[in-house]
Amino acid sequence: MAQPRPWLDEIIDALKELGGQGTLHDITEKVLERDIMDFQANPSFRDRIRGTIYNHSSDGTYYKGEVGGEKDIFYSVAGIGKGHWGLRNFEPTEENVNITEDDMGFEEGKKKLKQHIVRERNPAVIKLAKERFKATHGRLFCEVCDFDFYQKYGELGDDFIEGHHTIPVSELEEGQKTKVEDIALVCSNCHKMLHRRRPWLSKVELKRLIER
Ligand SMILES: [Zn+2]
Ligand SMILES: [Zn+2]
Repeated sequence: MAQPRPWLDEIIDALKELGGQGTLHDITEKVLERDIMDFQANPSFRDRIRGTIYNHSSDGTYYKGEVGGEKDIFYSVAGIGKGHWGLRNFEPTEENVNITEDDMGFEEGKKKLKQHIVRERNPAVIKLAKERFKATHGRLFCEVCDFDFYQKYGELGDDFIEGHHTIPVSELEEGQKTKVEDIALVCSNCHKMLHRRRPWLSKVELKRLIER
């Protein structure tokens, strides 16, 4: 059976949702989550996704070039073999990365800020951070103010928390991997407040503020 749309288009949209880059694993998970393709019709869809990326990247070994009719769409973020891919010519914008007015107000490197936000949206790292937190504390709650979405909202709030990347924007390097230890789990209010001042407040500093 034919797929509802070309794999290439689907992969591009999945990567856009990931903020422009992601590991092969993130991309595959995102495509599954979007649930548009017919996975049953193509049980080896994982290979298909991988192959499609390789065929459309001049960093890939199978790339036949624009002459072969294949556009150079993806680039290798961390070097070939690392399985980390980015979308060429993709600039995260307010629309696709959802940067707030507050965030935009600061002149200190918008590009760095976008990188930071993309990092915080890395689903694999956030997932791992949440799992570790639950294993230690038995449930999810804000590390700053103790807010528990499940306690407040019931089922709707189950498993919800935001991830904040604690490494300051100025110290971020392009292509640097996001470590799970650097992710703080916070409620949406505390997350906004953490971003509100430059240099950013640390978890501890914010905690001190609200305990005044
Ligand atoms: Zn909080
Ligand atoms: Zn943050």
